[in-house]
Amino acid sequence: MYDPKNCCQEAKKCPILSQVYQRFGKTRKKLGSSSKESMLPGVAFGLALFALFSISFAGSAQANGMLEIHFLSIGQGDSILIRSPSGKTALVDAGPPSAARIIKRYLRKLNIKKVNMFLVSHPHLDHYGGWRGVFRNFQVGVYVDPAFPYPSPMYQKMLRFIRRRNIKSFTARINQVLDLGGGVKLRVTAPSRPFLKRTRSDANSNSIVMRLEYKKLRVLLTGDAEMPTEYRLMRQPQWLPSHLLKVAHHGSHHSSSKKFLGYVRPKIAVVSCGKNNRYGHPHRDALSRLRRAGVKTYVTARHGHVVARSNGTRLWISTRGRSKDQADHSLDLSDLPRTFGEALSKASARQAAAAHGGSLYHDHGPPLGQQPERPRWFKHRPRGKQVIPPTPYPSRRGYVAARKSKHFHRRSCRQAKNIPKKKRVYYRTRRRAIRSGRRPASDCLP
Ligand SMILES: [Zn+2]
Repeated sequence: MYDPKNCCQEAKKCPILSQVYQRFGKTRKKLGSSSKESMLPGVAFGLALFALFSISFAGSAQANGMLEIHFLSIGQGDSILIRSPSGKTALVDAGPPSAARIIKRYLRKLNIKKVNMFLVSHPHLDHYGGWRGVFRNFQVGVYVDPAFPYPSPMYQKMLRFIRRRNIKSFTARINQVLDLGGGVKLRVTAPSRPFLKRTRSDANSNSIVMRLEYKKLRVLLTGDAEMPTEYRLMRQPQWLPSHLLKVAHHGSHHSSSKKFLGYVRPKIAVVSCGKNNRYGHPHRDALSRLRRAGVKTYVTARHGHVVARSNGTRLWISTRGRSKDQADHSLDLSDLPRTFGEALSKASARQAAAAHGGSLYHDHGPPLGQQPERPRWFKHRPRGKQVIPPTPYPSRRGYVAARKSKHFHRRSCRQAKNIPKKKRVYYRTRRRAIRSGRRPASDCLP
């Protein structure tokens, strides 16, 4: 039998942990693995990290002994600070470059001097842009990212910096458990290997998705995961149910499908985006899906910093960084159903099973590490051939495009309003727009 405690004491003898320790020496560690059979390395990784944390800092315990999750209002991007009851901190993403100052000020205010784990969910600038601010002002324990190959010069620059400074770095893999101490665990549920390919945005689709677990509390952090990722996550539905959901991709309509929300069943959702951002986030479709699922939604652009605090049995949400006593909202944490079977009523389970070829209810399909077959909406269009998707509903006011753009929008689309008047080309019908050689824009789906 594998006994983690004994294994830990006899680290040198234990084949799993010694493997982990050996690999610590390299610049980028490949730990865990991508399939079910690899839960042990995941646990070992968690233990190893925990051991690492316990050695490297004694942990300044928080006065109130509460878990805090701060969704920082840093403009168009993500930045989430997690502080465990033992005082250890994890920073998930660092917003756009302009966020560096906000993050610095916010963390200083909380008297944080060390970021024990700096995690970048995926290599897009709105998620790691403030990296200089983080590394310059705080001691960083470990750097974690999905190791998705991404050639952006700025991202490469950050990786070079991390290597030069000898900052420990890890690759997040499915089934790893990152232990933040004080009973707070981050369970990595994506990306799985092989990486999702040929999606709308491969970098987004291979975001790190984690579920934070603390006593009864479950919080799902989704990075910029899009529907292909959601589809993959639904193959292991036991890791989805959560009280709080960090809405993926700033509330874009490419994420938060109705079905996915049905699996997560959050009570509270937080969207992190900038005021009047040029992507039109959060998208009204995503918001209405959340509303229909009965989720109370906070948007950082509107509410400012959103802070969730929990003692493990109750959750308090306050905005603009205020304290628990000034909470806008609080809820009792009920036990969440753990399995798919418990999660749904029999009728809806049967319905969902039918949609998955009758297999899902009894069998969760291939483990997350394997590539599932693609559902229809995920099929990639053949290259070179232009396939025009059917229009969901016609635009009464016609269509508009920028003269040099290959895409056209509905006239009501926010993006269309940003096109300078002089550069606009108008079309009365969709057909005419398509005949001009343009394709429907992905934001308003005309
Ligand atoms: Zn993003």
